[in-house]
Amino acid sequence: MPDYSYTTEALYRGEKVCGMDLKPETIPCFMTTAFTMRGFKEVQETYATKGYTYVRTRNPNRTALGEVISCLEGGEESLIFSSGMGAITSTLMTLLEHGDHVICNSNIYGETFEVMTKVLSKCGVEVSFVNFQNNEDIAKAIRPETKLIYTEVLSNPTLTLVDLRAVADLAHQNGALLMVDNTFTTPIAIRPITFGADIVINSLTKFLNGHSDAIGGSITTTSALCDKIQPMAMLLGTPGDPFSSWLIQRGVNTASVRMPQAMHTAEKLAKVLAAHKHVSRVNHPSLPDYPQKELADQMFGKNGYCAMLSFIVPEDLEKIDQFMLALRFPRYAPTLGGLHTTLSHPVTSSHMGVPDETRRKMGITPGMIRVSVGIEDPDDLAADFENALKVFD
Ligand SMILES: *Cc1c(COP(=O)(O)O)cnc(C)c1O
Repeated sequence: MPDYSYTTEALYRGEKVCGMDLKPETIPCFMTTAFTMRGFKEVQETYATKGYTYVRTRNPNRTALGEVISCLEGGEESLIFSSGMGAITSTLMTLLEHGDHVICNSNIYGETFEVMTKVLSKCGVEVSFVNFQNNEDIAKAIRPETKLIYTEVLSNPTLTLVDLRAVADLAHQNGALLMVDNTFTTPIAIRPITFGADIVINSLTKFLNGHSDAIGGSITTTSALCDKIQPMAMLLGTPGDPFSSWLIQRGVNTASVRMPQAMHTAEKLAKVLAAHKHVSRVNHPSLPDYPQKELADQMFGKNGYCAMLSFIVPEDLEKIDQFMLALRFPRYAPTLGGLHTTLSHPVTSSHMGVPDETRRKMGITPGMIRVSVGIEDPDDLAADFENALKVFD
């Protein structure tokens, strides 16, 4: 054998610790852009069996995380994306063609709304926005070319609920699919597939990872549909990277203990706020005055309703600012779903572009504060809010 230089040899050491035939207690991170093969036979076999080739096509960390999400959502298969938006766009681009029609809940995540209006219109897909509080309005919007009905479980920031079973029936009677965004609720609170949803999308950036340190998204549906979405994601460049997928898997593994805790804390906070003299309204499905209380109790399981809530204080932006400064724990953050409780102010952020009159009709006033509840001790959090609300005295 030739005497190779030690620097070249060093490049080929350590590579046998690949984790494949070892049995690590937890999944290692496969930070590799590709998997190598030794000859044509192996190359053919790998492609024929949809094995691991290039990172954008497949990666073990995405496969592993997908298996966890499929189990949580109760679906056949899941695909992992670079973000929630990557999951949404890749799926819509796969399912929809020129001339198709979509019915979308008018009260929906801002960027999803923009995909529906700005991106789908470029592809010749028409979208009707409907208030999903009224199933008759959805039925009226259905056309022969309606391919997809799209909604979230609970709308931001008013937490209005969609009767998923009824909407799924409407979709299926008309040969359309129902796609549901479960980001706010997570499969720990509700599993849309058990209500008839065909496709579930989660932004893993939020509660499912729960640690505010990674961005990702997932789609859960049938293997047949995943087989169609996967090649499209590969072309659009939206699959998630191995490290984020590995990190998110770590987060998802504790969702079943974090989420009930956060949802319980949210319930407690909602109750305390509802009884407070400076709070005129609290939106949370656990409260007796929640407008869809009966439906909520039918749809949500024993783990809780959700860790999001919103409440209304007097419309005094200066006082609201003082309130935020007076809080010991929660901070303003343009996201949700972390270990820490965070706040947002819809009128100056997510709903800034919506006219005041329309916003008020939706129940969103300049006095509204949205809360993403973390895993703090419920009594500590409630005491912190009560103390900060003194600025309105
Ligand atoms: C954040 C969010 C998304 C988008 O997810 P990203 O991971 O930020 O791309 C979609 N839907 C809802 C309800 C969200 O909160």
